[in-house]
Amino acid sequence: MRKLIFAAATALLAAQASAQTPPTPPKLLVVISVDQFSANLFDEYRPQFTGGIARLASGTVFDNGFQSHAATETCPGHSTLLTGDHPSRTGIVANTWIDQSIERADKRVYCAEDETQPGTSSTDYRVSPRHLLVPTLGELMKAHWPASRTVAVSGKDRAAVMMGGQRPDQRWYWRGKTFDTDLAGVTVPQTVVRAKAAIAAALSQPQPPLDSTPFCQTKGQEVAVGGGGKPVGGGRFGRAAGDLTAFQASPELDGDTLAIAAGLVDEMQLGRRAAPDLLAIGLSATDHVGHDYGTEGEEMCLQLTELDREIGDFLKLLDARGINYEVVLTADHGGKDIPERERLAGVGDAARVDPALGASAMGRALAAKLGLTGSGLFAYASVLDGRSFGDIFVDRSLPAADRERLLAAAVAAYRAHPQVEAVFTARQIAETPVPTSPPETWTLLQRVRASYYPGRSGDFYVVLKKDVTPVADTRNTVATHGSPWDYDRRVPILFWRPGETGTTIQHSAETTDILPTLAAIIRLPVQPGSIDGHCLKDVPDTSCPAR
Ligand SMILES: [Zn+2]
Repeated sequence: MRKLIFAAATALLAAQASAQTPPTPPKLLVVISVDQFSANLFDEYRPQFTGGIARLASGTVFDNGFQSHAATETCPGHSTLLTGDHPSRTGIVANTWIDQSIERADKRVYCAEDETQPGTSSTDYRVSPRHLLVPTLGELMKAHWPASRTVAVSGKDRAAVMMGGQRPDQRWYWRGKTFDTDLAGVTVPQTVVRAKAAIAAALSQPQPPLDSTPFCQTKGQEVAVGGGGKPVGGGRFGRAAGDLTAFQASPELDGDTLAIAAGLVDEMQLGRRAAPDLLAIGLSATDHVGHDYGTEGEEMCLQLTELDREIGDFLKLLDARGINYEVVLTADHGGKDIPERERLAGVGDAARVDPALGASAMGRALAAKLGLTGSGLFAYASVLDGRSFGDIFVDRSLPAADRERLLAAAVAAYRAHPQVEAVFTARQIAETPVPTSPPETWTLLQRVRASYYPGRSGDFYVVLKKDVTPVADTRNTVATHGSPWDYDRRVPILFWRPGETGTTIQHSAETTDILPTLAAIIRLPVQPGSIDGHCLKDVPDTSCPAR
């Protein structure tokens, strides 16, 4: 798909000079979320970048950006990016939670679905923004400038939904086999029609392995993985014809996502009218690569090399069009490498989680001990549901006294386990105020509080010890994120505008600060106190309101 970008860009390069420092507020805000792009990865690869990420890194770089909350997953993370709010306000507490009050048999609820639709489940769902409880930047822009357009394109539906909010003008996301939309009655752009056909044709062909680089070759040692998975470390993204799993965990997915975004810039004439437009782009392949191969092998190296180049091509297209634009690049959460390779690198405590900590296993063990029988609503006939960390739910059909006994026993059992750092009950969390101090100073309980929303969060919350990877069975996934530790919370936040150079800022910033900062740049009023975030005065062209 990158050929699409190149062809379009070169056609206009002769006619258009590259953008100069614009004297007026930008007409196109481009917000790029690189899924699982931790600040640790950004720091490691910053000297290697020569393309688009290098250009963006010449702007204002917040190297200590934070997704401040505890539940560092894709949906909560994306819900903070363009709302200015923590998940405690957005309502997006996790990718999936449990709602025992809903009608359908599957009590799990996916963050970006409408579970009231008949015949749906949390895995076969109708995409919807209904769980997002606060407005997004695009909605505020439309309220202020009715002609403003919002477009969201992503490799994941939940990223496009959380960044695009309610009623964007276009929303496209990869859904397993092709790009899809949840918007009814919206004309399908020709660029999407063409891209879908081109992707289907490319997928039907095998993909040869990528050429490596000297730097990436230094990372090409295979490492054995515990938990039944295959060794990782030396992959170069060769894939068989039709292999959808390999496709989405490769640079191909991001290239296609950016090609659709570029096509929509042209077809919709984004950034070329009086009212400013918003283009939110979710680049999801880095996350799939991290989950499938870990973060320190040749696979991630090649992924980030390609990502840097693809973003560079995309920016060249915007330059060629003479668009007055501003870019923010950040991430929905960080991540960490597989524990096996971390131990080789000297992280002595790196380990995989004990499967006995899984909520279903723990629930069955405690039910036997306490003489309880569940309602059968939960998976694996357990009285607890959830995972080995994060929100865990107690079967509400149990009599109140039994629920209390079970909760007390479960909290004690988790606390007693050597891999568990802390357990907080919903009551404890609810009694804690949402913190407003710098995110690096927050206690674990404060981090959990910023992820808590009553009615969606669990009955208690488990925090595993630092460097415990909550993946025991590695046949599908070898590494993950989701903890309140800084390797999962710390993300880069880059602001860049053509012609501007900035500095690297060491003091912390939060992803909730992106909305008020962009609002200040485009002179969009935001009601004081209406959001958690604060305008970042270190970014050029902001006239931040007084705090
Ligand atoms: Zn993610």
